[in-house]
Amino acid sequence: MIMVHKRFETEVVHHGYDSKEHLGSLSTPIFQSSTFTFETAEQGEARFAGEEQGYIYSRLGNPTVQALQERMAVLENGEAALGFSSGMAAVSATLIALTKANDHILCSKGLYGCTFGLLEILKEKYNIQSDFDFMDNEQSLRDSIKPETKCIYVETPINPTMKVIDLEMVSRVAKEHQIPVVVDNTFSSPYLQRPLDLGCDIVIHSATKYIGGHGDVIAGILVGKKEFIDEVTMTTQKDIGGTLSPFDAWLLLRGLKTLPIRMERHSSNAEKVMEKMKQHPKIKRVYYPFDKDHPDYEVASKQMKLGSGVIAFELDGTKEDAQAFLNRLNFIKIAVSLGDAETLIQHPASMTHAVVPEEHRLQMGITDTLIRLSCGLEAWEDIWEDIEASLK
Ligand SMILES: *Cc1c(COP(=O)(O)O)cnc(C)c1O
Repeated sequence: MIMVHKRFETEVVHHGYDSKEHLGSLSTPIFQSSTFTFETAEQGEARFAGEEQGYIYSRLGNPTVQALQERMAVLENGEAALGFSSGMAAVSATLIALTKANDHILCSKGLYGCTFGLLEILKEKYNIQSDFDFMDNEQSLRDSIKPETKCIYVETPINPTMKVIDLEMVSRVAKEHQIPVVVDNTFSSPYLQRPLDLGCDIVIHSATKYIGGHGDVIAGILVGKKEFIDEVTMTTQKDIGGTLSPFDAWLLLRGLKTLPIRMERHSSNAEKVMEKMKQHPKIKRVYYPFDKDHPDYEVASKQMKLGSGVIAFELDGTKEDAQAFLNRLNFIKIAVSLGDAETLIQHPASMTHAVVPEEHRLQMGITDTLIRLSCGLEAWEDIWEDIEASLK
């Protein structure tokens, strides 16, 4: 297949698949096969030895999954990509590949709850230490790096308070020490932010969120240099086993086709709802990266195309008031996750961040009245009217 790179909106629909190679099928076939037959014993030997290209067994590679991987690599502007059965499978395979016992991981202050949980496991079992840095100051970041630091792990915007980290600054400091920078790009998707273009080394997605976009799949993606992706493919993915299924890869390929138009709508809905929230007397505080009053607005507008669909806001009141507010909503659904067509709302202190120790949680700005809203694709006026009615 001829691979001429086109614009993002075109690649998202076409890259990595050629209908001519599949009897003209417009939609990528789902190769629902666990294994692949060899024509001869010698061919099997050559495939295992890596002397001949071709599929062996779907935990090691599958054509539907491969189409998704090629598309994701191009969208993130990376050399290669790898699909996983969940975002956490991608996070764990990556961190285990990058570290050994007694190493150190430097993280942004504010991480997805289960990533935090994984770091606790790595600490307890293998003495892999982790520290959390605000990463808002070049010198203090430099001072936090230790001789044993094997990876800098960043989420931006940080869930749920939408703090933004300057990825160019972090990658510049990391390069001085030749430490790879891993970015969890779930909240932006490659349409809004491309960490590899900003000098970072590895990108992770919970494809469950904006990549899939329809609330019907759990999946993860890893993007980076071919050498690293090959290593993970043959070690922490093959031997731990968090492989992506062909059907789930197909759902992601389908979701991806509308990623640009969905991200435009998620972002514009969020921007409009955020402006309304800022005017409301019962809302004390609003967090959104493309809010001109957000302390990180300058960095956000430098490295992101739009602000994405997630807003966090703090109600004036108590935890019970926050829960009563959620219970009064009409069509907005109380659910964790984000990036779906449906608007979803949740209470981080008792849900997504309940595992984070209280002190750490408060440092992250997650109070008992903080609420996270994932703006869906509905009319923004309806989203706002549901919230406004529930605030009464
Ligand atoms: C959801 C999420 C994850 C975990 O992904 P799963 O697909 O649920 O395993 C990791 N990081 C971020 C930022 C997330 O939102």
